[in-house]
Amino acid sequence: MKFVGAHVSASGGVQNAPLNAMKIGAKAFALFTKNQRQWKAKPLTMLEIDEFKINLAKSGISSKHVLPHDSYLINLGHPESDKLEQSLEAFIDEIHRCDQLGLEMLNFHPGSHLKKFSKHEKEDIGYVTQVENDCLKIIANSMNEAIEATSKSTVKLIIENTAGQGSNLGYKFEHLAYIIDRIEDKSRVGVCLDTCHTFTAGYDLRTKEAYEKTMGEFENIVGFKYLCGMHLNDSKPPLGSRVDRHASLGKGELGWEPFRLIMNDKRMDDIPLILETIDETIWAQEIKQLYALIGK
Ligand SMILES: [Zn+2]
Ligand SMILES: [Zn+2]
Repeated sequence: MKFVGAHVSASGGVQNAPLNAMKIGAKAFALFTKNQRQWKAKPLTMLEIDEFKINLAKSGISSKHVLPHDSYLINLGHPESDKLEQSLEAFIDEIHRCDQLGLEMLNFHPGSHLKKFSKHEKEDIGYVTQVENDCLKIIANSMNEAIEATSKSTVKLIIENTAGQGSNLGYKFEHLAYIIDRIEDKSRVGVCLDTCHTFTAGYDLRTKEAYEKTMGEFENIVGFKYLCGMHLNDSKPPLGSRVDRHASLGKGELGWEPFRLIMNDKRMDDIPLILETIDETIWAQEIKQLYALIGK
């Protein structure tokens, strides 16, 4: 079965997110559990937590199909130790909030090196440069620290692949594999593939052949056993552009074919499939159109 939804608003409080998901006919959703552009957030109140759980039950959506996204400010690969510390602290707080809400995953972008490493040149050592390699190590360390600091939690840290814009890492499947390799407790780690990011990072999805090639590479390098969610977005920029700009489904460079393939691919069963497309007024329609592709 497929569980499609969107990254819905939690404005007015997290308890509103399941209701917003319900309104668009979603069977899954993503949310920010705090303001994504601020470092500090008030702790969740007992009332908010209770109402979230009541509304989630009302929506009929399983906690398994909720994919919270962390704040955009967090950079687990930050090259400066004070900023890294601030990121780690905020990240641990995000894990804690997921636990409080009874949620099982936390989706995040791996991190950016910000081109501030001074010691190394952009020396290519295979699939990454030395600068990137050092940053991937910092990211894995941060994740291990966060896992250790939340040892009673079972929340999975879901690494999202990126478009590779600026100095963002995670645009090659090898980056994801490298990080996973270094995580001590593999039960706490998973991956989210964003179709727009995958495509603009240089992996084609537009034909059955290209899709199978890309997914085959993902299986070989990362493994579908780590796939815990997907972001379904069409892409404004072209293949390999390393630019992150989402488009509504069928209105970008990808077209409908990748989404037809995903909706008919058993490997994407039972995980949240989340729209982050740009026009939220058509999310309900996009969800319907996606379900209509099953069996086509
Ligand atoms: Zn995404
Ligand atoms: Zn994006």
